[in-house]
Amino acid sequence: MKKYKEFEIDGVKYTIEYKKEIVVDDKGVYGTVTYPTSTIALVETMQGHKVNQDVTDWTMYHEIAHIMLNNIGIDIPETSIERLAERLGSMLLQMNKTLK
Ligand SMILES: [Zn+2]
Repeated sequence: MKKYKEFEIDGVKYTIEYKKEIVVDDKGVYGTVTYPTSTIALVETMQGHKVNQDVTDWTMYHEIAHIMLNNIGIDIPETSIERLAERLGSMLLQMNKTLK
């Protein structure tokens, strides 16, 4: 498994940590971003199964998209933010995978 370590956006260094489990609002999630500590957490297992690389990659870019949207500071409902993060994250992931 490829382990991401860190990156910078807008001059802020984000560190990536891997966790056995991440729970948000009583639900297990694949990843989260915590702004005060500039940290992305990625989960290693979900319901007893190892999370595969494709899911980890998708989650990584999804969280990066959240950071970009947060930094842009658009004021729209959370559900719209989530949709934007999904699309933007997918586009960033595909770009990164096909970049030569
Ligand atoms: Zn999200």
